[in-house]
Amino acid sequence: MRKFPVGRSTGLVALAGVNKRFGKAHVLKDVDLTIGKGDVVVVLGPSGSGKSTLCRTINRLERIDSGVITIDGDPLPSEGKALAQLRADVGMVFQSFNLFAHKSVLENVVLGPVKVRKVDRTVAKEKAMRLLERVGVADQANKYPAQLSGGQQQRVAIARALAMDPKVLMFDEPTSALDPEMVQEVLDVMTDLVEQGMTMVVVTHEMGFARRAADRVVFMSDGEIVEEADPDAFFTAPSSRRAQDFLGKIL
Ligand code: ADP
Ligand code: MG
Repeated sequence: MRKFPVGRSTGLVALAGVNKRFGKAHVLKDVDLTIGKGDVVVVLGPSGSGKSTLCRTINRLERIDSGVITIDGDPLPSEGKALAQLRADVGMVFQSFNLFAHKSVLENVVLGPVKVRKVDRTVAKEKAMRLLERVGVADQANKYPAQLSGGQQQRVAIARALAMDPKVLMFDEPTSALDPEMVQEVLDVMTDLVEQGMTMVVVTHEMGFARRAADRVVFMSDGEIVEEADPDAFFTAPSSRRAQDFLGKIL
């Protein structure tokens, strides 16, 4: 699917020996993961295996207990302006859209660049309209999120993330809350981003998308990365017992 070969050695996002506990629960166990510029990494695994926590630590929505996470070579900042900058560099699309309910669709996309990136409002508006066009919801710009379908809201959420010019985009089950008929329109937008060379980490149960779009599949179970593989190899012959069980249940 990729139009251009991309290098994997750069390590735009790198996790080394990352551990995270919630009380007694050891939720991330010595996680090592390197994501190169332009890589599309799909994270699979049973519920409770730590996929969301992994995403949230990369965006610093959760603190880690030990280990190191770097973005473009810099360790994650813990607070202040540097943290806001990091959150802008690491875009996040959630299962539940998380749009600002009391702002128009356009304002949802304009706000971040104006507040965090200090972009001129007129410039930010023009760019927001282009992005809404790109995800196919420009005609909804002046409505409020609740007036849109779930699929449209999620496409707005993607436009909002893109407006910050993120270095990497994280998707945490972006289609899981959608009615089935709306899943494809969101996957189509994501596929477009893959083709544009965006660096992406995607937690999903959409195995068709995973197989087509991923450069690599990361399989998690009980807080560990159990397997990291080429998608074809993973889906045809997963090497771990835990991945075999998981695929046996869902395919
Ligand atoms: P997944 O996204 O793979 O379903 P999560 O990362 O959401 O898994 O959760 C991993 C484990 O961490 C689960 O056992 C979950 O209950 C626990 N967990 C997640 N967030 C919290 C939290 N804020 N406080 C306590 N436990 C949590
Ligand atoms: Mg989750």
